[in-house]
Amino acid sequence: MTPAMPEIFGWIAAASYFIAATLFLLGLQRMASPVTARSGIHWAGAGMLLATLATFLLPGLGNIALIVVALVIGVGLAWVSGKRVAITDMPQMVALYNGMGGGSAAAIGAVELLRFSADAAAPPMITLVLGVVGALIGAVSLAGSIIAWAKLDGRMDKRYTFPGQQVVNLALFALAVVLGGIVVSSLGVPMILAFFAVALVLGVAMTLPIGGADMPVVISLYNALTGLAVAFEGYVLGNQALIVAGMMVGAAGMLLTRLMAKAMNRSIKSVLFSNFGGTGGAAQEIAGAQKPIEAGDVAAMMAYAERVVIVPGYGMAVAQAQHKVWELAQKLIERGVRVKFAIHPVAGRMPGHMNVLLAEAGVPYDLIADMDDINPEFPNTDVALVIGANDVVNPVARTDPSSPIYGMPILDVVNARHVVVIKRGKGTGFAGIENALFYADNTRMLYGDGAEMAGALVSELKALGGGH
Ligand code: NDP
Repeated sequence: MTPAMPEIFGWIAAASYFIAATLFLLGLQRMASPVTARSGIHWAGAGMLLATLATFLLPGLGNIALIVVALVIGVGLAWVSGKRVAITDMPQMVALYNGMGGGSAAAIGAVELLRFSADAAAPPMITLVLGVVGALIGAVSLAGSIIAWAKLDGRMDKRYTFPGQQVVNLALFALAVVLGGIVVSSLGVPMILAFFAVALVLGVAMTLPIGGADMPVVISLYNALTGLAVAFEGYVLGNQALIVAGMMVGAAGMLLTRLMAKAMNRSIKSVLFSNFGGTGGAAQEIAGAQKPIEAGDVAAMMAYAERVVIVPGYGMAVAQAQHKVWELAQKLIERGVRVKFAIHPVAGRMPGHMNVLLAEAGVPYDLIADMDDINPEFPNTDVALVIGANDVVNPVARTDPSSPIYGMPILDVVNARHVVVIKRGKGTGFAGIENALFYADNTRMLYGDGAEMAGALVSELKALGGGH
């Protein structure tokens, strides 16, 4: 007997999902190196396109017109926002897209649970449980990512804390689990609605108290949770592409979360449940004054140095100074100065932010050092040039237990013979706290926009002429 057309289409869809999953894997693998990362995005994107198109071949697919309208709106919005977004707003966009993934999983969960509740025959228990768990994780990711977006975008204060917050969060979590259990056993519509409401409130409540050094861990955790939620709802729908893609995002996100937590010296539990750092008590006073310096003096100091370490931070991204900074480094290298770039794992506003910017400017990878490798070298460094970095070089992370960044490993620039900090004025970093480095005896402040000051240093070096 020859198979019917819908059956053949089903086979083609399944085969396409397999190819799409392979493309996701290869794309992810290529993202492991900055050299191949761009093509990795293209491979994974091709996989996503194939998976989306193949879905139209699935037997029994209804509401085609609505799906097409949703796709057109989604693609249109993503295209326009993707083209328009400033590179400095990228982290907010990542947080928002993360949330949308979680929201989509929660929406699938909601629709399926409501459908099950209207059906006479209940689905298998495992389907129900995974549907509820996926919906819970997805709703938490959606609400939490929106709060993370607002914090990154400067629309909200960094941390909201009140006494007994952990108990309230734990109670909300317990309530969500109990409601989820009732939904699994009864499938009553009011219970489904209450369950989603509590899950959303839980996502908000979990993220409100988190700030300072812990945001990067939370963002990567929500990324991982979104993947898991999508995979669980993929099981509910019986859709292999969703299961594979979700599991990949979940696994990669978990690894990233572990890396970020390790880099911040935090456990995930302490980030989520213990209001780590800054739990009260006034910050310790910092004695002394900030000492300004002129670009000409900094250029001379660096020109006659043996070793210079450049430490970029979020301000370099704001100023888009990476090209000028690389030009400055090249001028120093031409003069025989040994130059390295030091990158803190959470410098900037998203994992790998500084690596991406330096790669874009053409800085060779062998000049870029990680925190653990470069820290022992600071005592032998003549000049540490900090450009737009603040929290990641703040020694109070070591010395002030009341600080919200207490315990976070930092770049030990304060140990260099001379430190020069380029920043526009007395603005604080993401954690909103004073920086003891700026008041240190060996630190001088070069006030101004990062790109302008890097440009001024290049001109001063040219004016100096000659080499060592
Ligand atoms: P910070 O945010 O601590 O400091 C940036 C500094 O740059 C500010 O003090 C600001 O001072 C200066 N600046 C701003 N614009 C300019 C400009 N145009 N030219 C020169 N300087 C400028 O940056 P860091 O990279 O040191 O630390 C990152 C922080 O972000 C950490 O607290 C981290 O936990 C957090 N975070 C990191 C994420 C990640 O994944 N990497 C995600 C979320 C949060 P001024 O205004 O005086 O110029």
